[in-house]
Amino acid sequence: MPAHTITIVGAGIAGLTTALTFAGKGYEVDIVEQAETLSELGAGLQISPNASRILIDLGLGDALAGAMIRPEEISLVSGLSLRKIAHVPCGAFAAQRWGAPYGVMHRADLQAMLLRAVEAEPRCRLHLGQRIEDGEIASMHARFGQPALTVGADGVWSQTRRLVPGALVPNFSGLVAWRFMMPDDSGRAVLDKRNVTAFLGPNAHLVAYPVDGGRAINMIAITRGMDPGRTWAQREDPSDRRVLLDAFAGWHPDLLSLFRQAPQMTWWPLFGVPDGRWSNDAGTILIGDAAHAMTPFAAQGAAMAIEDGYELAQAFSAAPASARGRALADYETHRRARIGRARKRAAFNKFAYHARGPVRLGRDLVLAVKSPQSLARDLDWLYGYRAAGL
Ligand SMILES: Cc1cc2nc3c(=O)[nH]c(=O)nc-3n(C[C@H](O)[C@H](O)[C@H](O)COP(=O)(O)OP(=O)(O)OC[C@H]3O[C@@H](n4cnc5c(N)ncnc54)[C@H](O)[C@@H]3O)c2cc1C
Repeated sequence: MPAHTITIVGAGIAGLTTALTFAGKGYEVDIVEQAETLSELGAGLQISPNASRILIDLGLGDALAGAMIRPEEISLVSGLSLRKIAHVPCGAFAAQRWGAPYGVMHRADLQAMLLRAVEAEPRCRLHLGQRIEDGEIASMHARFGQPALTVGADGVWSQTRRLVPGALVPNFSGLVAWRFMMPDDSGRAVLDKRNVTAFLGPNAHLVAYPVDGGRAINMIAITRGMDPGRTWAQREDPSDRRVLLDAFAGWHPDLLSLFRQAPQMTWWPLFGVPDGRWSNDAGTILIGDAAHAMTPFAAQGAAMAIEDGYELAQAFSAAPASARGRALADYETHRRARIGRARKRAAFNKFAYHARGPVRLGRDLVLAVKSPQSLARDLDWLYGYRAAGL
């Protein structure tokens, strides 16, 4: 029955979470995805308790426990001297403090886990290999029936966004992320194989953590960079490595040696979507990166996409048909406040992580006197968040 049908454009983390939550509420869900297969796209992700709590509620607790590595701590380390500046405890501490686990895993494993759950859900129908352009949304509705809601979960280069007057287009942040995997026997002296380490330095930082059951270390280096235009990711070409090494000039030789040894890298221009409209008041709403892509300094893009999908389905399904417009407006107001706070946190982390000169010294002094527990307390609003419906 169309009034009880949801159409979702995009089968990324946002789209699949939304599909599962709506199906759990009794809706029939069509998910339209441009890719022929959902495979090894992306790299590592940190999954914070605000997101893992939702995945567990969706019945993915066992799958998550099998795929996620639970680090004991997140360390902030000087990229110049390798001196540990501060750390936030994770492991059992995180599970106890924030009520759900903190972990790291490959994005492809998270997507595969969600995909298996969607495939096992009779109310969900996944249509692969179907790219939707804005003008085709009407024909999509002709095919699947006019849905109660169309959800644009089609990422930073969303086409669904064109249906939403007042939605804003992505801006290049001036930064690029270099992503690569190191085998776990490399960088013994400098890489912590069990925990998350953020190496900080002037105008750049490097995050390292284990993935694939500890068989590899996921590395993300964030530096200033050029805008290559509308793209998701680029494989490095032979001259790129030199650019990366120049961006990290003056860093500790052990880290520079890792950059030299690293296998093929991929680099990702980092775009943000500014705070515009998400909904067109006519049955279409944007979520995840399509609505509010942000730079990864708070490691919250996927977590916010998971929260969006879950809370959207809760809000929409709780409202009678006559009050759905109001429910979507309330959802947008509520989520906008939360996303705004996450964005501010990411902007603050960028300032602190890439600090140079006296600001860097001040940062190190402030962090040195903060206890791990007080650093954890600063994250309570983010990690301790219970999405509506939990
Ligand atoms: C370097 C880096 C590190 C990050 N680290 C973290 C982290 O540690 N923790 C975290 O929470 N987040 C992190 N993120 C952010 C996170 O990866 C994204 O925010 C998240 O994946 C967004 O999910 P999404 O489903 O909204 O969009 P996407 O993952 O982009 O999915 C969109 C889907 O829509 C499909 N699609 C697009 N256009 C169309 C179309 N026209 N028709 C049909 N289908 C279409 C795409 O093929 C794709 O499957 C990081 C991001 C970067 C760049």
